[in-house]
Amino acid sequence: MTISNDHIADQFSLLAKLMDIHGENSFKTKSYSVAAFTLEKLPQPIQSLPPDKFTSIKGIGDAIGKKIQEILETGELRLLHEYINKTPPGVIAMLQIKGLGPKKISTIWKEIEIESIGELLYACQENRLLLYKGFGEKTQQNVRDAIEFLLKNQGSHLYAEVEAYVQTLHSRLQQQFPAEQLALTGDFRRQLEIIDKLQWVTTATPTAIQPFFEKEGLTLQTDGTYKGTEGVHIEIIHTAADNFITTLFETSCSGEFLEAWRKRTSANGASTSATSASSTNKAAATSAPSSPTGAADTTASNNTSAADSAEAALFAAANISYIPPFRREQSAILDRAANAPLPAVLQPSDIKAIIHSHSTWSDGSNTLEEMAAACIEKGFEYLVISDHSRSAFYANGLKEDRIREQHAQIDELNKKLAPFTIFKSIECDILNDGALDYTDDILSTFDLVITSIHSNLKMSEEKAMTRLLRAIENPYTTILGHMTGRLLLSRPGYPVDHKAIIDACVRHKVAIELNAHPRRLDMDWRWITYALDHGALISIDPDAHSINGYKDIKYGTLAAQKAGVTAKQNLSSFTREEFRAYLKETRAAKGV
Ligand SMILES: [Zn+2]
Ligand SMILES: [Zn+2]
Repeated sequence: MTISNDHIADQFSLLAKLMDIHGENSFKTKSYSVAAFTLEKLPQPIQSLPPDKFTSIKGIGDAIGKKIQEILETGELRLLHEYINKTPPGVIAMLQIKGLGPKKISTIWKEIEIESIGELLYACQENRLLLYKGFGEKTQQNVRDAIEFLLKNQGSHLYAEVEAYVQTLHSRLQQQFPAEQLALTGDFRRQLEIIDKLQWVTTATPTAIQPFFEKEGLTLQTDGTYKGTEGVHIEIIHTAADNFITTLFETSCSGEFLEAWRKRTSANGASTSATSASSTNKAAATSAPSSPTGAADTTASNNTSAADSAEAALFAAANISYIPPFRREQSAILDRAANAPLPAVLQPSDIKAIIHSHSTWSDGSNTLEEMAAACIEKGFEYLVISDHSRSAFYANGLKEDRIREQHAQIDELNKKLAPFTIFKSIECDILNDGALDYTDDILSTFDLVITSIHSNLKMSEEKAMTRLLRAIENPYTTILGHMTGRLLLSRPGYPVDHKAIIDACVRHKVAIELNAHPRRLDMDWRWITYALDHGALISIDPDAHSINGYKDIKYGTLAAQKAGVTAKQNLSSFTREEFRAYLKETRAAKGV
């Protein structure tokens, strides 16, 4: 059994919080949270070490070492179970509420006597929290906002979180029903960043599916859907064979798209029925795009292309160029596709570089050398290393002297690794007033600068815009990092005027990051079409804090595909020489 460091860290971290809620000795609880932090940052799996070496790791003492061994041997931590058993589930659930630490949860539970999130929301609405020590008007409002956010997103999952599960369940379904038509549809097929429900369309009947799902551990809900592991909702759409493609098509586009499609096709007199379309237009079916996305191919590969081909007949019959499911969102795409074929979207293999990454110089967990070696091994042409700037003290941000040291190391490595190139960059904090975190003298020593907001995230749109626009206008800014600071399903971004920011980026030759971390995907793809139409350059950046983070590029690519980004419109698809030329050209244009 493999047990990851993260898994052990999660158990310690939860244990520390529960012990705090129960008011245990803070020295003890702290040792567990330190251990969790240490394990998360540990570059090698702790399972690969002999148990007597555990204590040689800083932050892990004798007692914790034994607990790690217990988890490795049994998969569980007995002490954690004891605490879970003596805490009401609703109180444990409160740990998901942003801004509520264990101390406050303890007050809510033991003094206010609230044991569920629903009750807590009610208490906020009744202003009851204000009567207790440590709860001001502001805290109460924050708790209320956080609960509302949490409730709204319950049952939702990040694309990346459900991906492996989708793959497993899909192949299990295929194995079980080889003679039936079966295809993945809905949110997942559309490559949405948040998945509310996993959907399949199939000719298999409910009486065949139900016993199979029950055997797989899925539970049937009253509304006919199923609940899978980790609370994922699953819906099976049953259809007759002659309606299969139409159903697949109709369940893999947005409501807006489908409505516009129906209006257009009924006006044209074209048929929306797949059967008549495919029988009248065999040629279209064979010339269908074979692989709309590398990522979707890894899931449901057999069905994706077959389904795409069959769907292509529907488009051919309607005289509209093929629109892949991931682009069936806004109705305007129909006009584009009616006039000309859509340009080929960016593929994961078009990404030539890792832009935006952190090393052990700040808060990354791999050394600069390791980060570069992994890039070379994966076939990337260059690496943009952008550790945190000095104000990000919590992330070990770089003071001026450390920048000089890092640059010397980069020069060394570049000599050794040529033609591979490490570009000198920094993820420079945008300060409260919109100024950057270093003087121009220092900023001029970088090949490029990524500017991001990391502090004082709670602000009005006016404030956010002042900060962002000032940073964009700074001639040293090359890329604007994660535009809104959002963390999907856990924190909304600060409010911004997207159009104004995009326009300013175009005017000042600043590329706009599409942060590829599956929890960020910021800027939102819904704004990228506007950005591209106005000549913006996108940069799909993994914001990698370890070598493992490179894989996130895929999620950025999936989001970019939704907006129709082509390889030419993405900075990280530039070859090394194109990238170098771009930096030179933009700097010259800005006179720095
Ligand atoms: Zn950042
Ligand atoms: Zn970063």
